[in-house]
Amino acid sequence: MNKTTTETERQSDVLRALLLERRATLQREIDRLIAQHRDQHGHFQDSSVLDLEDMSLRDATAAQQIALLEARTRQRIQLDEALRRLDEGTYGVCEDCEEPISAGRLRALPFARRCVACQEQFEVFERIVQREDREEA
Ligand SMILES: [Zn+2]
Repeated sequence: MNKTTTETERQSDVLRALLLERRATLQREIDRLIAQHRDQHGHFQDSSVLDLEDMSLRDATAAQQIALLEARTRQRIQLDEALRRLDEGTYGVCEDCEEPISAGRLRALPFARRCVACQEQFEVFERIVQREDREEA
């Protein structure tokens, strides 16, 4: 019994280190994206001549940067959530059936919240909802 607890605790420590490392990498990328966006924004603000082509090019780049920034921020939030669940001792437990999520799945998807079976069911459900939305529109 003691051995199992120690093993679980050791796994939690390994996982926490992994999640924190990924979070730090994400945070660096987010900081870089924000700095890049600010630099370019500042640069364009300073220039007095702007033709329409430049502006649309700038808008496309800015939109891409913002989309990427949003995606990275969402991932960071998911990592924070995973870390919180790890602290609470609910990490790696399926939200729906409350069975443990397999270690392989968690390695591939560190912030998976459902086991494979429940995730598949959830996605099928989501697709049905999306289809109904489309049919109504
Ligand atoms: Zn499940």
